[in-house]
Amino acid sequence: MRFVACVGLLDSLLGSLRGCLDRFPDKRRGMNTTFGMGDIGMAAFSVFFMQSPSFLAHQRRFEQGHGRSNCASLFGIAKTPCDNHIRDMLDPASPVLLHPVFAETVDQLRRLDGGLEVFRRLDGRMLIALDGSEYHCSRKIHCQHCLTRVRGKGGTEYYHAMLAATLVAPGHDKVIPLEPEFIVPQDGAEKQDCENMAAKRWLATHGQRYAALDAVYLGDDLFSRQPLCQAVLDAGGHFIFVCKPSSHPLIQQYLIGAEVPVLEQTVKRGKQRFVHRYRWLHDVPLRDGRDALTVNWFEIEIINARGETTYRNSFVTDLAVGADNVVELAACGRARCRVDGGVAAPIPHRPGRAGFPHPVLHDRVSLTAA
Ligand SMILES: [Zn+2]
Repeated sequence: MRFVACVGLLDSLLGSLRGCLDRFPDKRRGMNTTFGMGDIGMAAFSVFFMQSPSFLAHQRRFEQGHGRSNCASLFGIAKTPCDNHIRDMLDPASPVLLHPVFAETVDQLRRLDGGLEVFRRLDGRMLIALDGSEYHCSRKIHCQHCLTRVRGKGGTEYYHAMLAATLVAPGHDKVIPLEPEFIVPQDGAEKQDCENMAAKRWLATHGQRYAALDAVYLGDDLFSRQPLCQAVLDAGGHFIFVCKPSSHPLIQQYLIGAEVPVLEQTVKRGKQRFVHRYRWLHDVPLRDGRDALTVNWFEIEIINARGETTYRNSFVTDLAVGADNVVELAACGRARCRVDGGVAAPIPHRPGRAGFPHPVLHDRVSLTAA
């Protein structure tokens, strides 16, 4: 994309964010409105955008003049509100209020020449990786919105997690984050919320809209279960989910004795040569029972010059698999690994850093999520 087009796009994306923040509920009554909700929201966003380790560090840099011109020109902020004011004003706002920005981002990219085309794979389809990501974990600090788990003898661990949905494409180094779904205790639910349930809610809310992009959902073995595969199909999408032999013994039984087509390719990586071996089988039941969904299975195995298997993974999909597309299908199935907990997560929330001084206090839950 040309530089001028990039700058224009950034301006327009930031404009759409500001427009959304301007519509955030403002609890203030009376005249104390030096900063509008848009200014406050953009000030908070600039902390993340500039990758500052904390609000305070960001503010100090700003006061010393570092980055001030950037903030003024990019975000339209001449003065920054104090961190407590930002927290107070933004905390009551639900993260869902930001959802329109994700849809507008995709729409703006779609209208831009080549904006979304670079993401098209598998005959013009778009890949959406679904992946759980934790952004807080502690044995001490917790709140009423925390999920809990017992870890060995160490007692209860408290954590916050979300299901990240990300537009990805193998061979392309950029990703586009889509609406997240937070994994939080649900009203009236007996079981603790989990990635799988969050994925079902995500599909019910956004699935039909992304069906227009001909979406193919990618996910790990957790997702290759009938209810979620069915939910993807009901939302007009397709899926390529990891399918571990240990969690799908029935498929393993079908593979024994079946005539399984094989495709082998020699791939050079530096001075080393590897054999990529693909196998696939159509029409295998996803589980026991008459109502079992029929899916197509495929596997990729990477073998080094010494004949040792260095990588093996298998997948299920509703898409037809053949010698003409199994290589691309496997590349797409593996594309999700790149966003796992890393690229798609905002940097200050990267797992492992959540225990350190956080840009947002833990008890300000909806703000942390936003
Ligand atoms: Zn919590």
